[in-house]
Amino acid sequence: MAQPTQKALLAALAAQSSRPAPATKAFNELTTADLTTSTSTDAGADALTNSRKLYCPRGGCGAVILQPGAGEWLEAEPGILPAAPGSPFPAESTTVGYWYVRGSPFAFDNIGFSRPDAAAALPDYAPGVAEAGGKVKWLICAECDLGPLGWSFEGGSEAWLAVDRLRYAAEPKKA
Ligand SMILES: [Zn+2]
Repeated sequence: MAQPTQKALLAALAAQSSRPAPATKAFNELTTADLTTSTSTDAGADALTNSRKLYCPRGGCGAVILQPGAGEWLEAEPGILPAAPGSPFPAESTTVGYWYVRGSPFAFDNIGFSRPDAAAALPDYAPGVAEAGGKVKWLICAECDLGPLGWSFEGGSEAWLAVDRLRYAAEPKKA
């Protein structure tokens, strides 16, 4: 395949930097009721899914990570993701939840996956650990590589995003 020319790359970069920053809020500015909407699943049960677009939290990036309705709200104990010193992530909140995404990577707008991390061990209580067949792969922003925003497993089709490592559309999706 032909490589893009330098001119094309520069034009793409210019288009990116002129993109207006989306109006977003941090996780701790919103309540669970603000963030979720009740959705019927295939199984007939009601699930809480994200009512707003999810964005990369890095100032100046703002890539769309997930569309409304693509993530299921899941509560879990804190301390699953490693601390990321120097990152723009807030200190871990006491309310800890995750967006559970099935069928990744195609369920996402923009997401990158790290190489399988042989050294990573998630705590036993982390969602997915009991069923995982492979090594941890960290979720990172596909545009700026910020991460980890969440985790997945080698060979798996599920992923989990930390609710407090994302930003949210200021307004919920209009019905
Ligand atoms: Zn980003």
